[in-house]
Amino acid sequence: AQDQLRQAQKMEAVGQLTGGIAHDFNNMLAVVLGGLELAKRHLHNRGPDAQKHIENAMEGANRAAALTRRLLAFSRAEPLLPEAVEAGTLIEGMADLLDRTLGDGIAVTTADAGRHWRIWVDRHQLENALLNLAVNARDAMEGQGTLSINTGGIRLADHQVGECLAGDYVSIEVGDTGQGMTPEVLARVFEPFFTTKPVGKGTGLGLSQIFGFVRQSGGEIGIDTAPGRGTRVTLYLPRHIGEGEAAEASAESGDAPAH
Ligand code: ADP
Repeated sequence: AQDQLRQAQKMEAVGQLTGGIAHDFNNMLAVVLGGLELAKRHLHNRGPDAQKHIENAMEGANRAAALTRRLLAFSRAEPLLPEAVEAGTLIEGMADLLDRTLGDGIAVTTADAGRHWRIWVDRHQLENALLNLAVNARDAMEGQGTLSINTGGIRLADHQVGECLAGDYVSIEVGDTGQGMTPEVLARVFEPFFTTKPVGKGTGLGLSQIFGFVRQSGGEIGIDTAPGRGTRVTLYLPRHIGEGEAAEASAESGDAPAH
């Protein structure tokens, strides 16, 4: 718990720092992109080289813009807008995107036992988190394997997973058959900017951002991994129980969490 508190404080400091930078940087990039776009139009008839260079510059600027968007989300400059979200429907809606992201060699399986688990969460941030987890899984699988996303309902006791409070949660497990993590890597995955990926490929912000989002949403995150055995990341998010559903809720829960 002490470690997690330190982790949260560290993330807050990094978040405040990057928030200001990201905002200014994004404004500058908007100017660069606008100027290049105009230049590209004017140069259109002067041979392919000038155009190519400008296109490269635009690609670079676009990548930088994407990074600052991640930094902004990470620094929580964007407020969360929670709503009732049906987990299975949201995941189904991401099927094409996931297939394209993962490539032909990786199969995607999903299961929610036919239940319409509802979460109280920011839909956009949850989609971002799941996409990030899928990209991490892809990178760990090197083109071959299975990504499985399983959804369920669970009743947790106080601190049963991390800092969670007692209550009803929806668990979303994202499992891969990739290389897994050593205990040394696992101990550091939530640290901002910690990455084992080559420069340009990893930012080290994925899992720390997900950690921030999940905790801010009143949820928790668990990771089960071992070298050569693959990785399973489980998000526990507060279950949304609508009117007339209260009695049913407790009857279905009670599985042990995957830890
Ligand atoms: P990034 O993906 O940019 O490196 P993350 O914060 O998402 O940043 O991940 C940090 C590190 O955690 C990764 O560099 C990798 O070493 C490890 N990691 C994350 N997800 C997985 C996974 N599914 N399988 C194996 N290692 C992983």
